[in-house]
Amino acid sequence: MHDAADEYTWPTCAACSRDLWETEAGRRTCRLCETRTAERLAAFPGLFQQINSSAALMRGARRGGAPTSGSRTPPIPPRLEVLSLAAAGGVATRLRDIEDSWRKTLGWTIAPWRGSPGQAVPEHVRFLVNNLPWACDAYDSVGQDVEEIRRLHAECTQALSHDRKPGRVNVGHCPTIIDDQPCGAQLTASAANSRIRCGICGAQWDDMWGWRELRRTQEAVAAGERKAA
Ligand SMILES: [Zn+2]
Ligand SMILES: [Zn+2]
Repeated sequence: MHDAADEYTWPTCAACSRDLWETEAGRRTCRLCETRTAERLAAFPGLFQQINSSAALMRGARRGGAPTSGSRTPPIPPRLEVLSLAAAGGVATRLRDIEDSWRKTLGWTIAPWRGSPGQAVPEHVRFLVNNLPWACDAYDSVGQDVEEIRRLHAECTQALSHDRKPGRVNVGHCPTIIDDQPCGAQLTASAANSRIRCGICGAQWDDMWGWRELRRTQEAVAAGERKAA
C-alpha cells in the first residue's frame, strides 16, 4: 500500500528533465533552459552569416570550371554540412518550422515569407526570442523545440570549427608583381575568414570578388611564365 504522497510526481523541466524549483511551478521548462535557449537563438544570425559566406566560397570554388592547371584546385574543400546548413532545408527552414508550430499553437497566421535564408534567419530569431518566455511557460511541446535549437546550434558551431582547426588550405602563390617578379609567397586561406593576406608583401584579397581576382591574376602570371619559358 502506498499513500497519496507516493503518487505525486514532482514537476520536471520539459527540456532537461531536472526537477523544477518551487518558484518555477506551473512552467514547462526551468529558467536555466530558457536562458540558454535565448543565448543560442541570439547567436544564430552571426553563425549563419559565417556559414553563408563559407558556402558561397565553396560554391564559387566548385564552379571554377574544368581543372586546366594546378592552380585550379578549389580554395576551400566543399563540405557538405556547411552547404546543407546554408541551403533550403537548413538553418532558416528549421527555425521557420519552429516558428510555424508556435504560431499554430497561438492561433496566429503562419510565418510570412521572409526572403532568402540570409534575410530570413534574423527574422525567425526575432520571433522566437520574443515568444520564448511564452513557450517556456506554457507550450506543451517546448521540450522538443529547445532540443532542436540546441542541436542546430551545435551543428552550426561544429561546421564552422572544422574550418578553424586544421584550417588553412594552400591557395597557390602570391601573384603580386614586385620589381618585375611575382612575389611568389605561399598563400593560405580558411573558410572562417574571407580574407587572404600575403605574409611577405602584405597584398590582400577579400570575399568572392577578391578571390576571383586572385585566381585570375595567378593564371595571368602562370601564362606569362609559360610564355617566357
Ligand atoms: Zn531545464
Ligand atoms: Zn606577396
